[in-house]
Amino acid sequence: MTKIITRFPPSPTGYLHVGGARTAIFNWLYARHMKGDFILRIEDTDTERSTQASVDAIFEALKWLGIDWDDGPFFQSKRLHIYQEYIQKLIDSGDAYYCTCSPEKLDAMRKKAVASGGKPKYDGTCRNRGLSKTEDAVIRFAAPVTGTTIVDDMIKGKIVFQNSELDDFIISRSNGTPTYNIAVVIDDITMNINTVIRGDDHLNNTPKQILLYNALESPLPAFGHVPMVLGNDRTRLSKRHGAMSVTAYRDMGYLPDALLNYLVRLGWSYGDQEFFTRDELIEKFTLKNIGRSAGIFNKDKLLALNADHIKAAPPSQLSKPLIPLLKERGCDAGEGLFLENVIKTLNTRSKTLLDMADGAAFYFQKTISYDEKAVKKFFKSSSIKPLYLLIKQFNELDGFEEKDIENAFKAVMELTVLKLGKIAQPVRLALTGKTVSPGIFEIIGVLGKKEIVSRLNNAIKFISERENQ
Ligand code: GLU
Repeated sequence: MTKIITRFPPSPTGYLHVGGARTAIFNWLYARHMKGDFILRIEDTDTERSTQASVDAIFEALKWLGIDWDDGPFFQSKRLHIYQEYIQKLIDSGDAYYCTCSPEKLDAMRKKAVASGGKPKYDGTCRNRGLSKTEDAVIRFAAPVTGTTIVDDMIKGKIVFQNSELDDFIISRSNGTPTYNIAVVIDDITMNINTVIRGDDHLNNTPKQILLYNALESPLPAFGHVPMVLGNDRTRLSKRHGAMSVTAYRDMGYLPDALLNYLVRLGWSYGDQEFFTRDELIEKFTLKNIGRSAGIFNKDKLLALNADHIKAAPPSQLSKPLIPLLKERGCDAGEGLFLENVIKTLNTRSKTLLDMADGAAFYFQKTISYDEKAVKKFFKSSSIKPLYLLIKQFNELDGFEEKDIENAFKAVMELTVLKLGKIAQPVRLALTGKTVSPGIFEIIGVLGKKEIVSRLNNAIKFISERENQ
């Protein structure tokens, strides 16, 4: 069987947005599933709109998503000599020709075509003029004027285009740079791409590209045009619908595996299954299950899926991205067992890594600043006694297992005749500064006896000083 070779060829005119990322992911997954190759190519012939910053942003986003490539990145701007060579072949074979029609003339031509009820097309004025290269000449493809071109699409089925609808489109600008359709075809031919999966916004380009393949006597790749990603109002996904860039999701505390999972499901299905690990996707992804209708981007679903991925991820995997977020919150955390234990108390209650970092900060704070409202409610002079008794119980303990901690609380409940809730809230406030946190026993287990005793003592001091004011 021939090795599958797919590609992702972004134009570096901005960041990598979620729609583009989904196309990259489909090509990457298919290559990985088929044990083929995935090629990265940067389509930067539009020198006015392409920027190095965009190239860097695209690499950064792909790397974060964990999309690796087997060959490339190739830059179209460095391949101009190859395009020129192939375009010359088309001129030599009579499949392309120089055209010197002025913008005014082209404008008049289009108006005339529209006035007579047709499409604004080039009328072939220069086709048989045998012009040679001049400074202002463009090169046009001599497209067939009759017959049909069929796109046999893996996702959409057979689509028939009338050649009479096409015109002699430009393949080389007067400055010698190739246009999109010819550059893509030459690249795909020379890079041995045999599977092209892209957004269906490119479907109208495909018959033109097929005609170019034919003129260059090259076999066609298999084409699959994927329906667009839409917003919840069914219009094309845009900033109005929320963050568009892949790295914005990283910055909002999403896991790459969650975004990957979500984007794949947005246009591909495997029964009713929603949650997939990366390896599962590689194992199960085929083009057969790509849907024919547009995917609707739903922020809430993505957030819920992110929470599921956080829950499922091994804590050691979450440490790395969490450390810088803790640093931003003034917490000096390092990788290791302590941080992993912290994560275990938060991974079922965090929708994003930002939530997790917010929730974890108290573990690392040297001094706890208590929430003011909570102080009024839970730090009363009557709270000193249970806190004091708890310290006493803890100090008398040999072990510090969950059972020991529970017993210590039970003893304090008996001694004070207070319910657990009455004791737990001031303790929680003493340990975390807040009224909402992971389970009190879990926190105590993670922080350890010495730190707990110190935090409880600090709270007693705080309450006494406050009472004496
Ligand atoms: N540079 C094109 C884009 O970003 C590539 C389209 C294609 O896959 O042929 O839309």
